[in-house]
Amino acid sequence: MLKLIMIKYGELSTKKDNIGFFLNTLKRNVEDVLDGINYDIKYDKNRMFIFSEDIDTVIERVKKVFGIHEINICYRLDNRDLDTISKDIVCLVKEREFKTFKVAVKRSDKTYPIDSMELARKLGGVILKNVDGVKVDVHNPEILVNVEIRNDTAYIYMDKIKGAGGYPVGVLGKGLLMLSGGIDSPVAGYMAIKRGVKLECVYFESPPHTSVEAKNKVLELAKKLAVYNNGMKVHIINFTNIQESIYKNIPKEYLITIMRRMMYRISAIISHNSRGHIIVNGESIGQVASQTLTSMEVINEVVKMPVIRPVACFDKLEIIDIARKIDTYDISILPYEDCCTIFVPEHPVINPELNKCYEYEELIPYKELIYEAIKDHKIIKAGEDNKEFDELL
Ligand code: ATP
Ligand code: MG
Repeated sequence: MLKLIMIKYGELSTKKDNIGFFLNTLKRNVEDVLDGINYDIKYDKNRMFIFSEDIDTVIERVKKVFGIHEINICYRLDNRDLDTISKDIVCLVKEREFKTFKVAVKRSDKTYPIDSMELARKLGGVILKNVDGVKVDVHNPEILVNVEIRNDTAYIYMDKIKGAGGYPVGVLGKGLLMLSGGIDSPVAGYMAIKRGVKLECVYFESPPHTSVEAKNKVLELAKKLAVYNNGMKVHIINFTNIQESIYKNIPKEYLITIMRRMMYRISAIISHNSRGHIIVNGESIGQVASQTLTSMEVINEVVKMPVIRPVACFDKLEIIDIARKIDTYDISILPYEDCCTIFVPEHPVINPELNKCYEYEELIPYKELIYEAIKDHKIIKAGEDNKEFDELL
């Protein structure tokens, strides 16, 4: 018997046409997280097997890989003869304390001479005969002994670990996350990555009105997301000139609306330039003045590219739950100012009008300002153990 890890893909298996691409991407993503460990990996369209001396570390790491539905600690038998399966199954269940059990059999090779039901019954009988004081419970067994008959041999597993779910990162293409230092946008990013979107981030800073600490906080958040995204590029945009120009020339209640229209315009260009198809952000309906439906409509109007708002319909507490789970919450609540918070007027417009936006935007040379901001933008690469990134913090 050989102990190894068996991976089930879940949702993946329904994507018949690009399954090859999906699986290749998944394999590459798994290989990325296993960097530095000795392992051997094999896969077909139903299962992936990883052999390693360091099973615990492998499991800890692959638990974070999207596209994996279930992880099982599994035993590959020397052959699939009934005698071998019987001997090994008894040996494996005897290592455990249990009163009730069930045997479930799956045959991916239908030419195997015993059908699934019959084999399950036979193996159940073998366990009853060899282990004292146990009985079968088909509805609520303490241990579920899974036996899979595959072409090469038979496999037994009992321990299921929930995978991260979703699609392998990258299979759906690329997008750009507007990453602020808040609670919402990292969660939004995580959710988009989970659906297979490979992200880059954009962060708007306004030095000297915003501090280096505020930027570092965003870079720390990007680093958390990098674990799921196989690294992360952060585009840093100097927003100072645009923001000051808006502040000096545009009526205060429209500051945020116009500022966000500028952010969207820049984000669409950066996303497009990095071969992205969408913008992702952490807007949540009704949370602040710029997130009323009319605000969203007026702000969204400047871009053709779809804007995905994964947390749009979540309550703050639901967002916080995910933020804690992905370990971004403690970073997000650090008290550094954001470029939005600094220029926030006392009474931002709740129902902005598009005509007024057109009129006010005429008051500033916004195209040139956007051009300058994009021309001078910096890119920082973040990865799980990216030294370059650490040095910058
Ligand atoms: P968050 O908690 O994510 O900061 P928020 O509730 O503070 O969100 P806003 O400040 O209105 O809401 O921002 C809405 C979204 O716009 C953010 O979730 C983020 O996606 C984007 N955003 C805001 N400020 C910035 C910034 N300085 N750089 C990049 N994106 C930003
Ligand atoms: Mg914010």
